[in-house]
Amino acid sequence: MLEIRMVTRRFGNKVAVSGVDLAIDDGQMVGIIGRSGAGKSTLLRMINRLIDPSEGAISFAGVEVSALRGAALRSWQRDCAMIFQQFNLVPRLDVVSNVLHGTLNRRSTLSTVFSLYPTEDIHTAIDILDRLGIADHAAKRVEALSGGQQQRVAIARALMQDPKIILADEPIASLDPMNAQIVMDTLRRIHDEDGRMIVCNLHTLDTARRYCDRVVGMRDGLVVFDGAPDELTTAV
Ligand code: ADP
Ligand code: ADP
Repeated sequence: MLEIRMVTRRFGNKVAVSGVDLAIDDGQMVGIIGRSGAGKSTLLRMINRLIDPSEGAISFAGVEVSALRGAALRSWQRDCAMIFQQFNLVPRLDVVSNVLHGTLNRRSTLSTVFSLYPTEDIHTAIDILDRLGIADHAAKRVEALSGGQQQRVAIARALMQDPKIILADEPIASLDPMNAQIVMDTLRRIHDEDGRMIVCNLHTLDTARRYCDRVVGMRDGLVVFDGAPDELTTAV
């Protein structure tokens, strides 16, 4: 279980996230909705420790995430993989190298210098691409792919970490409706098949309704709704 206890984050005088209190069970797919500026990204970024809370604590399986340092922190950051609106892939690199890229920091300096990936990892990467329906594109540069395919490469890179949690920050905001559906279907399938916790920032209520078990609505840093999608009647 992921526990977010009375978490506040300020940027100067601006309160981006205000006293957020949420417990998310393993195996839940949660959609966080709210307008731009509501605090959704800040919340996700605190979970994987890209930034720290000003107040409050975040813990996972009883371990306080905010206290982790060094190797334990890096291990936590692999446990919660991020997916971004703009995919954040490495340009000019082929698809399979992008999927493997995140594994570089786990290996020796020498293998990093020569970009030597163990055969086993390459097979794992190809298997993941196959599962996501994009193995045929493995040798192409990422720029040659459509937005929806690039986002699936980013999901493959996330799965390569074998994460316990997938944190998706507006994963479909740059995609056309068809690709958006493919990406959301992919995330839901990963959730159903692997039982991974997914926390997904979304700006449309309809997507959250359709794909998530639970919807958290945020406004001005506050949680203003938390419940099942069918309990959500008014716009947040
Ligand atoms: P959302 O993801 O819902 O669009 P954000 O978490 O990005 O919202 O932002 C919440 C508020 O915090 C916004 O007012 C934003 O401008 C502010 N904010 C976010 N990050 C920073 C930062 N690094 N410095 C200053 N203000 C920030
Ligand atoms: P999103 O809407 O997807 O959350 P933003 O455009 O709000 O993205 O933020 C993009 C980046 O800019 C983030 O790293 C965020 O922390 C930073 N940021 C957002 N608002 C501010 C701000 N008012 N001052 C400084 N940095 C900000």
